Amino acid sequence: MASFALRCWTEISRAQLVSNYRAICATVGAGVEVAPVVKADAYHHGAVEVARVLAAEGVRWFAVATAEEGAALREAGLQQRILVMSDALPRDHEALAHYRLTPVIHSLTSLQAWDALARTRQAPLPYHLKIDTGFGRLGAMSTDAEVVGAVLAASHVRLEGIMTHFASATDYESRQTEEQLGCFQRLLAVLAGAGIRPSLVHLASSAPVAYGMREAWGNMVRPGIALYGYVPAARGAAPPNVLRVKPVLQWKASVLTVKDLPAGFPVGYGALFRAPKPMRIAVISAGYADGVPHTLSNKGQVIAGGRLVRILGAVSMDVTTIDVTDCPPLRPGDPVTLIGQEGGVSQDADELARAAGVISYAILCGISSRVRRIYC
Ligand SMILES: *Cc1c(COP(=O)(O)O)cnc(C)c1O
Repeated sequence: MASFALRCWTEISRAQLVSNYRAICATVGAGVEVAPVVKADAYHHGAVEVARVLAAEGVRWFAVATAEEGAALREAGLQQRILVMSDALPRDHEALAHYRLTPVIHSLTSLQAWDALARTRQAPLPYHLKIDTGFGRLGAMSTDAEVVGAVLAASHVRLEGIMTHFASATDYESRQTEEQLGCFQRLLAVLAGAGIRPSLVHLASSAPVAYGMREAWGNMVRPGIALYGYVPAARGAAPPNVLRVKPVLQWKASVLTVKDLPAGFPVGYGALFRAPKPMRIAVISAGYADGVPHTLSNKGQVIAGGRLVRILGAVSMDVTTIDVTDCPPLRPGDPVTLIGQEGGVSQDADELARAAGVISYAILCGISSRVRRIYC
């Protein structure tokens, strides 16, 4: 079989992933279960590989968004518990049960459907109930009394966990997190009064872990982005970030060609850039079909020859043009870095995101399936 040159690829460090996971475990301490979030193909890091690495670390729970994502982990042989967080369609209940996935139930109607399935299967299927404590998205918005009634009525299923999700976890200028927490704790008390005590209570994604918000840890946390090495920036008077994590992924592309342009020569679609003086450009093999945001046209930077250099003109589907006038000589096949470090220079997904006007999550999840992954 023919093999192909590396065109655009990510290098994913298993050792850094493990180190980030251990840092999260050390921060929350032994009494708190860590459920790594591996949805969206582990934010492009590859859900199956990430899950295998973490399984070897003793992880007991993984969290994904959809039943299909959970099924893919099962098909790959992973035996840990799998929490499916955002699949609210009863149409998928059969598949959830078939693959032994644990659904987050978002409404009391959906709870009835899960209960009905458990009755026909004669199996006490577990579930976690998500409460909308003021996010205004997924999660049950019923009164405390209705929740108690529905949980007690669903006698064929087992309420194993109760959870909520914060809308403004990094915003220390807002009181929204405290209000959500208060709402959640009131409901927990009402449930306890009715004899309902789910064994897992969870609220926190990466940010409340990193900023040491213990009261929001419950006995399980659901870190995603922190596992991959990023802590979302906070606004206002945030406590210090206590979590030491580093990016797991580097993103690279090969130089396809290098050429000299005379002054006045245009670059790319729409001639968005025109060389003001004689310049040397390189065309690299990464474009918006690989996940380079089109909004980086004429704006973003990449690292070439150990220097941060500008993107020139429009980012196109398969390639992007960069300014290498002041770089050491580059040749076709040489790698450049979109995320990572070269020499003493580095750029991370946060920086790339800021230039693109998006968030680091969107950069990582946007790296497309065309981009080859290399684990090291
Ligand atoms: C995606 C997600 C997480 C993980 O969020 P990060 O900010 O990446 O840590 C946690 N909980 C829920 C419900 C999610 O959807």
